[in-house]
Amino acid sequence: MSQHHNGTKCLHAGYRPENGQPRNIPIVQSTTFRYETGEAMGKLFDLEASGYFYTRLQNPTCDQVAAKICALEGGTAAMLTSSGQAANFFAIFNIASAGDHVVASSAIYGGTFNLFAVTMQRMGISFTFVDPDCSEEDLSAAFQPNTKALFGETIANPALTVLDIEKFARVAHAHGVPLIVDNTFPTPINCQPLKWGADIVTHSTTKYMDGHANQVGGAIVDGGAFDWNAHADKFPGLTTPDESYHGITYTERFGLGGAFITKATAQLMRDFGASPAPMNAYFLNIGLETLHLRMPRHCSNAQQVAQFLQDHPKVAWVKYPGLPGDPHYALARKYMPNGSCGVVSFGVKGGRAAAETFMAGLELASIATHVADAKTCVLHPASTTHRQMNDAELHAAGISPDLVRLSVGIEDPEDIIADLEKALDAVRV
Ligand SMILES: *Cc1c(COP(=O)(O)O)cnc(C)c1O
Repeated sequence: MSQHHNGTKCLHAGYRPENGQPRNIPIVQSTTFRYETGEAMGKLFDLEASGYFYTRLQNPTCDQVAAKICALEGGTAAMLTSSGQAANFFAIFNIASAGDHVVASSAIYGGTFNLFAVTMQRMGISFTFVDPDCSEEDLSAAFQPNTKALFGETIANPALTVLDIEKFARVAHAHGVPLIVDNTFPTPINCQPLKWGADIVTHSTTKYMDGHANQVGGAIVDGGAFDWNAHADKFPGLTTPDESYHGITYTERFGLGGAFITKATAQLMRDFGASPAPMNAYFLNIGLETLHLRMPRHCSNAQQVAQFLQDHPKVAWVKYPGLPGDPHYALARKYMPNGSCGVVSFGVKGGRAAAETFMAGLELASIATHVADAKTCVLHPASTTHRQMNDAELHAAGISPDLVRLSVGIEDPEDIIADLEKALDAVRV
């Protein structure tokens, strides 16, 4: 299976039915699993044998879909979570605790920023946010002796900046910590961060991977290359005995390829229970089966839309990494030669009021708090998610009052552009 290309893996990786077994991944809608003896089940609890005992920790449907995502990213182990938020929380909390520090790109999803800067800060983990385009020296200067990880997004939501993964990996490794990359926007069809030196990859599977707005979910993939033992003093949770599992040491028992995900499952899923429903994993898998067909269409549609907007007299500015002249065009070409994503942001001339008129004129594009969906959708943060802020507060948050985030779907591009054209016609400059 590992020799296959990603399109084939979208259909086949993670689950191979035996003779007479269901063609589709079965939905194992069961909280629990039966065993003949208490001793057999005890071995599972001690992590001495592998098997299922309670769906809060692991479920066959979820594991098969996780194995597909693992294969797509080229990782050694993976797990699903109930949301992208849970995936990023677990990825960090698995190796950082109270008193520790993390360096993160400042160009990240607002929900992730809040998770780090507010909620995890309350748990005693401190964060330093850096401009991802800064020099290697400046990035390096953000590290402290207690830093446990470096975090960034391959393509930031909604800033649409492109992460220089190799630069980030070099600096993380020079400081003896892993690079964690949220790869939600490009998906492994357009970029595999592990190949460029990232160590852990996370996803909000709610977005393109699902693609049909069916389920909220997340995933964590381990590349298996980071040597926890070489920095054992920094990562005692992986390299010293876990008393809650009869003293097993994760790196010893599960190797570098399995330690991170096993620990996150055994400790964090056990204690926080952010486990996905098997039914949702099934929906996610249906989306994954066409991911390799949808992504190129999202990208070519978005490219045409971005060019149309750039040439339009009522559009003040356009941000899309696929546009030549975009500050991140070169990085996008390097890391995503086949296309970046379907999200385009732009400003309508005339500011907040003009953007509202534009939004009201759309018919095909639906106004929705969602991105990376098969159907075109659009969000004007200043009049929705950030409506309580005045223009000055918006600027401070890095969002201009005229910013429209357009998630270009896989409809016929002529129809998407005609819809935008009509809505822009209604704007009086
Ligand atoms: C949406 C999103 C998340 C959060 O995912 P949920 O599934 O909504 O919890 C995290 N990172 C990125 C880049 C996202 O776009």
